[in-house]
Amino acid sequence: MKFLITAGPTREPIDPVRYLTNRSSGKMGYAIAEAAIADGNEVTLISGPVQIPQPAGMKFVHVTTSDEMFEAVQQEAYRHDVCVMCAAVADYKPANVARQKMKKQAAPLSLELVPTHDILAWLGKQDRDFLLVGFAAETNDIEANAQKKLAAKNCDIIVANDARQIESDENEVTVFFRNGENKKIPRASKKNIACELVKIFCKEARKMFDKKNVGIT
Ligand code: C5P
Repeated sequence: MKFLITAGPTREPIDPVRYLTNRSSGKMGYAIAEAAIADGNEVTLISGPVQIPQPAGMKFVHVTTSDEMFEAVQQEAYRHDVCVMCAAVADYKPANVARQKMKKQAAPLSLELVPTHDILAWLGKQDRDFLLVGFAAETNDIEANAQKKLAAKNCDIIVANDARQIESDENEVTVFFRNGENKKIPRASKKNIACELVKIFCKEARKMFDKKNVGIT
């Protein structure tokens, strides 16, 4: 199967030397990409800036901003069977990017922020033949929030994890399906969790393709 995976954070520029970002390490997305390759799949990995070496054996697209990630996903999604949106895309970006470095001033400074494109929600609105997987980093009410996100973004699967695991090598996730079922994967290395997730994604994609009677590429 052909996997499209996004990973890592995005950077939203404020001026030529400053940007807004988040603590995403990219480890979970990269682990899913590696696990999908090890399982015999093809992978396109669209990655924001991370401290992980570029993995071998897959198509790699490096992006920096949420707009670049959106554009790369738009170009790639249609030719994949499973789209796993694991990136921690910034929810807001500065309304204006200063051309020159902003000067320090004594007065308080406010930045106007505007929402970025919600890439996962955009994919959910497309007439699509791929399985769509989103991630939810929650700190509370995990099940309720994950179910809400699954419906709001029209995904097939939401993988919910504790937002505090964002930089860790380990994770503990619950996989929520469209039919209301869920499956908990107990605490393990992100590598082991990724192997379990790839198995689940392939099984669900096969079920979806069988139902629609479309071939797997
Ligand atoms: O709404 P929230 O940001 O919590 O949803 C998280 C999920 O949505 C993740 O799968 C993330 O990759 C995706 N997302 C996105 N584009 C955004 C924000 C989140 O694709 N601008």
